[in-house]
Amino acid sequence: MRAVNGRVMEESKLVPFLDVKATYLELKSSMDAAYKRVMDSGHYILGPEVEAFEREFASMCGSSDCLGVSNGLDALHLILKAYGIGPGDEVIVPSNTFIATWLAVSFCGATVVPVEPDIESYNIDPKLIERAITEKTRAIIPVHLYGQVADMEPIMTIARVHNLVVIEDSAQAHLAVYKGKLAGNLGHAAAFSFYPGKNLGAFGDAGCVTTSDKALYKKIKQLRNYGSDVKYHHLVQGTNARLDELQAAFLRSKLELLSGWTQKRQNIASQYINALRNHSAIKVPKVKDSSSHVWHLFVVRVKNRDRFQKHMMEHGIHTLVHYPIAPHLQEAYKSAGWRKGSFPISEQIHDQVVSLPIGPHMLDAHVTRVIDACLAYKDESF
Ligand SMILES: *Cc1c(COP(=O)(O)O)cnc(C)c1O
Repeated sequence: MRAVNGRVMEESKLVPFLDVKATYLELKSSMDAAYKRVMDSGHYILGPEVEAFEREFASMCGSSDCLGVSNGLDALHLILKAYGIGPGDEVIVPSNTFIATWLAVSFCGATVVPVEPDIESYNIDPKLIERAITEKTRAIIPVHLYGQVADMEPIMTIARVHNLVVIEDSAQAHLAVYKGKLAGNLGHAAAFSFYPGKNLGAFGDAGCVTTSDKALYKKIKQLRNYGSDVKYHHLVQGTNARLDELQAAFLRSKLELLSGWTQKRQNIASQYINALRNHSAIKVPKVKDSSSHVWHLFVVRVKNRDRFQKHMMEHGIHTLVHYPIAPHLQEAYKSAGWRKGSFPISEQIHDQVVSLPIGPHMLDAHVTRVIDACLAYKDESF
């Protein structure tokens, strides 16, 4: 007879979208030790934990330098600021992304120039970038959306020809690989987020910048700390965008597990793809041969999303939408004058995408339940 233990109970419940608390439970002893270490040190802002994390994360990405900052949005914002990008400048961004990519540009006073994605990979389409370039263009921000690296080789070629800066939005792409190189090390600088739900998440807000550009590194180091290298000597009008010691210590505890967690995500994703690749009503994402996807999100497309989400909920499966409204149709960008139809590919993606549960602590029984529920779904085909 099967014992009614915690595990069995767990399997029969609602399949959660992501269990973030499970990472704490797995790492409880090292997390608790990290907490104690920082508390006992009496050092809470920009100390040894941040420095150690910066060294360790840079080496993990193969980048020469890393700077811990307050969050992913600030990481993007500081990079743009450090490159002197501001009013009158244009920055190319994907038309479909989480809105932070756009807000970083707008906060600098620069103008976002959206470029449509390739619908198969959901990432910016390099073939459409060149026609968006004007004499005001200063930078391109490719986003490695959902955990797959954008097609960086043609993007870097275009940037070289037009003398543009390339800033990777790697907020969803920790440890993702493109042609043998890791995300965060493919452009001139990269922004990472350690928001709790990201593949590497803190227990609060956190982020970092990686770069191999020494001059940029020095500028951002000043900018994140009131424009100062030496206390009370302010060289530029900086901000407060520092990473704290406690978050850095927690992140350090997680680093050695990240690669295994990524493999777990990849294993779940291959099970989903194998089971659903011939499903006529559910379109699974396409992975480019040149890259290793880290599956921050497993995003499929369906024709009737409300119906699909209702069907999944009836099977006890929680799904989410990343993201329901395209940035150009958000109230926040109303003044720019875009309308429905301005970026049709992005709009189609935003209308059809839905994310299935995925995460390093997902139970095998839950993976099977998601697959079975998807296989039981009948609807209009693609
Ligand atoms: C999460 C995210 C950000 C912003 O990161 P925060 O740490 O939440 O500020 C930026 N870009 C993308 C693509 C993201 O997913």
